[in-house]
Amino acid sequence: MTTAKLTIDHSAIVENWRTLNTLSESETGAVVKANAYGLDAASIAHSLARVGVFSFFVAIASEGSVIRDSIGPKPEIYVFAGHMRGETEKLTKHRLIPILNSSEQLRLHLSLIPDHPFAIQLDTGMNRLGMEPEEWLSVREKALSRNPVLMMSHLACSDTPSDSTNAMQLKAFKEMTDGLDIPKSFAATGGILMGSEYHFDVTRPGIGLYGGSPFSQAKPVVRLDVSVIQTRELKVGEAVGYGNAWVASRPTRIATIAAGYADGIVRTIGSKGFVFYDNIACPIVGRVSMDLTTIDITELDHMPQTLNLIGPHQTIDDLAKAAGTIGYEILTSLGERYDRNKIAP
Ligand SMILES: *Cc1c(COP(=O)(O)O)cnc(C)c1O
Repeated sequence: MTTAKLTIDHSAIVENWRTLNTLSESETGAVVKANAYGLDAASIAHSLARVGVFSFFVAIASEGSVIRDSIGPKPEIYVFAGHMRGETEKLTKHRLIPILNSSEQLRLHLSLIPDHPFAIQLDTGMNRLGMEPEEWLSVREKALSRNPVLMMSHLACSDTPSDSTNAMQLKAFKEMTDGLDIPKSFAATGGILMGSEYHFDVTRPGIGLYGGSPFSQAKPVVRLDVSVIQTRELKVGEAVGYGNAWVASRPTRIATIAAGYADGIVRTIGSKGFVFYDNIACPIVGRVSMDLTTIDITELDHMPQTLNLIGPHQTIDDLAKAAGTIGYEILTSLGERYDRNKIAP
């Protein structure tokens, strides 16, 4: 028995991509940045390329080189960070398309590798990455004369469809790109769900592929089972773990499981979250340690071998809610120590 087993369901990822793909007329890409939200970009990109995904998106160039090896030469790989100084060779060697974010990046790109394809990111109100209207206007003619392959922007509030920022950003994006005969990309998972107005030519779902909110229809992708190392009986008044943060108010059976905050069981979930045995919720008690977490299993009528942290009775979003964070952060926090298993597509 290994200490903790993380199962990643590639058939669910492929199914989630297909479902998102049917929601729009446009091409559906795939965002595999941050090691595919912590779930292994090389193997996931491979699974997705096999079912026809053609446009992949990563945050930085080095992530692109990893997936280029696994998907072969044909699919496009776009880099959100654009053309950073010192990364030119990576871009050319692995045929990555930088999404240029500023006039300075445009200048750098055209001076170093003028024949290498590039895309343009526009900032439509998020104030994070991309050229704002004025900057775009100042380089527009020069950029267009070099044939950018994609124009994109990103929504700040697409997890809240009713937020008026969405329509404002859409208007700004249209104003900056209207009439241009260049493929456009605007929607991540949330934008896909907001309807066809937001879709343009290529969509960029990330979290929806990996089974997270706001894609409520998503098939769950991740299962996490953690082994019990030891159990013990507590008398009333005995405390558990660092700082005596939890004290037994009844005779209690405690199980210590083999994963802690270094494995992504975020510390804020101490004394708040649950793990499951079948459908029985067992409270996490005391503080989460680096490698260990303590569970109240008094309600179980036998000693469990493993307890389930993510699975049929607790999604990544349930867990995120208990921890005061979002599913994205739960996924990208999952550590390197798990025995990782893949369910083949
Ligand atoms: C992360 C990211 C995405 C994917 O967003 P999800 O909400 O995970 O679908 C798309 N586009 C950009 C620019 C991003 O940074």
